[in-house]
Amino acid sequence: MLGLFEPPPPGMRYQCQRCTACCRWPGDVHVSATEITAIAALLGLSEEEFIQRHTRLNATRTGLSLLEDPETGHCSFLDGNDCRIQKAKPTQCVGFPNTWNFPGWRKICHATTVPDHQPST
Ligand code: SF4
Ligand code: SF4
Repeated sequence: MLGLFEPPPPGMRYQCQRCTACCRWPGDVHVSATEITAIAALLGLSEEEFIQRHTRLNATRTGLSLLEDPETGHCSFLDGNDCRIQKAKPTQCVGFPNTWNFPGWRKICHATTVPDHQPST
């Protein structure tokens, strides 16, 4: 998807509307070694326990991703409309759609475009 990123217009940013659609899409939610350390600590697990219980090999077999709920396919850390690891959620989650997105993302994501100085909700 490199080169297909649609950045916010100058002086603007995308503001998440917390619709949780991006937590329900199929696909990998990558977790780095640093993120694994932080999430495991947040959950009170050892890194080994966290990896065993909550991650799988990603699609390209180059690293680990968070497990999906086996019934819904949603991220297993989605709890209603909340993220159970909000305080340590992966960079991939924090960055979307401002630092990365993909063709067609606006059809799914409800983020609005706001002036960059407007506070987050
Ligand atoms: S980033 Fe977009 S898809 Fe994800 S919760 Fe926010 S508005 Fe919804
Ligand atoms: S880790 Fe949290 S923010 Fe990221 S996809 Fe899962 S529920 Fe959504």
